Amino acid sequence: MPIQIKTGDITKEAVCAIVNAANSSCMGGGGVDGAIHRAGGPEILEECKRIRREELPEGLPTGQAVATSAGRMNARYVIHTVGPVWGRCGRPDQCDRQLADAYRNSLLLARRLGCRSIAFPAISTGIYGFPAERAAKIAWQTVQEYLRDDPEMEVIFVFHSERSRRIFEDTIEPSE
Ligand code: ADP
Repeated sequence: MPIQIKTGDITKEAVCAIVNAANSSCMGGGGVDGAIHRAGGPEILEECKRIRREELPEGLPTGQAVATSAGRMNARYVIHTVGPVWGRCGRPDQCDRQLADAYRNSLLLARRLGCRSIAFPAISTGIYGFPAERAAKIAWQTVQEYLRDDPEMEVIFVFHSERSRRIFEDTIEPSE
């Protein structure tokens, strides 16, 4: 199953799981997180509150993932994961590991939920300030590694702008 790379609004994707670049509170926020809660409706926040109360009183640690329903969106689940905040994740290689964890744990959770398709935003590259090229390499490598074990999973990278999609494509396949 080839990986798809597109520009658009991830909330419109008709996939089994949409990944949310959440924060550790899991209670919504700006960027793609705000867009997902707006598109999905209040049901998502209600489930997030229950998860916080019953399973994650301290919040969702960086690199981990939890699932809720997708409310009114054309997806079955939202997988909320927390990417590293650039500048607050320690040495660059530690930041890289945390970002890879966010992608890998989202994929593993999607598989546990029985999903065969998943859409990712560019985790950590917005408000969290992770350099886009560096994030692209990690996202691509982590997904490729995962697909060696589970080649049937359909993975879609959704970029919010042409510019960020181009940075991603130029990084994973540099032109001569
Ligand atoms: P983070 O806090 O992890 O950096 P952000 O939401 O600030 O998360 O940004 C992550 C990426 O998601 C950014 O590249 C941003 O442009 C992109 N983004 C914002 N809204 C959407 C959307 N509706 N669909 C897809 N990507 C989006």
